[in-house]
Amino acid sequence: MTARPRKQTAPRRKPTTSPRQASALGKTTAPLTLAQVVSTLRGLYGAPAAPPVTDPFEMILWENVAYLVSDAQRAEAFEILRRRVGTTPQAIRTAKTADLLAAAERGGMRPMDRVARLRTIADLAIEECDGDLRDIVRGPMAEAKRTLRKFPSVGEPSAEKILMTSAGAPMLALESNGLRVLVRLGFAAEKKNYAATYRAVQEAIAAQLPSRAPDRVAAHALLRQHGQTLCKTSRPACPACPLAGGCAYRAGTL
Ligand code: SF4
Repeated sequence: MTARPRKQTAPRRKPTTSPRQASALGKTTAPLTLAQVVSTLRGLYGAPAAPPVTDPFEMILWENVAYLVSDAQRAEAFEILRRRVGTTPQAIRTAKTADLLAAAERGGMRPMDRVARLRTIADLAIEECDGDLRDIVRGPMAEAKRTLRKFPSVGEPSAEKILMTSAGAPMLALESNGLRVLVRLGFAAEKKNYAATYRAVQEAIAAQLPSRAPDRVAAHALLRQHGQTLCKTSRPACPACPLAGGCAYRAGTL
C-alpha cells in the first residue's frame, strides 16, 4: 500500500501594513480615497453621534476625569463632575475634594491622582488663559497647540482633536484606532514610533480632508468606531469588513 503524500499547508504569512509590502507578495490593492473610506463606514455604522463635549476646557476635563474605562462610564464620571462641581476652572479650583473624588472614583482606578490632575488643569487654565480657552483655540494654531499641550494627557493628537472639534480647525485628528485603520488600509506605512506614524498618515490625508468641520469630526468618530469594532488591534474581522477590497493589510493576509 502506497503512503499518501502529506497535505502541504501554506506557511502563515506575517500581515503587511503597507501597499508596497502587499504588492511584494503579489497582491494588489485598490487604493481607497479618504472620502470612500468615510462614506463606507457611514454606511456601515450610520451617522455618528455628536461629540459629548465641544468646549475646549470641558474636552480636557473629559480626557482626565476617567482612565481606561468605557465611553459610557467616562460620561457618567463627567456628569457627576458637572453636577457636583461644575466644569469651569474656577469651580474646580474651589471645589471640595469629596466632590471631585466622587467623579474621579466613577472614572476608574487611582482616583486621587485624577483629583490632583483636575486641580492642576484648573490652575493651568486660570494662569495660562485667564480661565477661558475659547479665544486660545481660535487663535494661531501653533500657539494654540503649544498651550493645549501643557495640560495633562494632551499630546499632539489630543490637541488637534480639541482644535478640530471646538474651533473647526482644518485638520482630521486621529486617535489610535483611527490611525490603525488608515495604516492598514495603506494610507501610510507604520514608522518607528507612534508620532512618526501619525505625521505620515496626516501628510497622506492632508489633500483629502472633508471641507466641512462637522464632516471631519464625524470622520474621526467613524474611524475610531471601526478600529474598536472590526479593525481591532489583534485579529481584525476582515471578512466582515466592507473596506476589505481596498485594504493593504487584508491583501497581505489572503
Ligand atoms: S478590518 Fe481588515 S479589511 Fe477592514 S480595514 Fe481593518 S484590516 Fe482592512
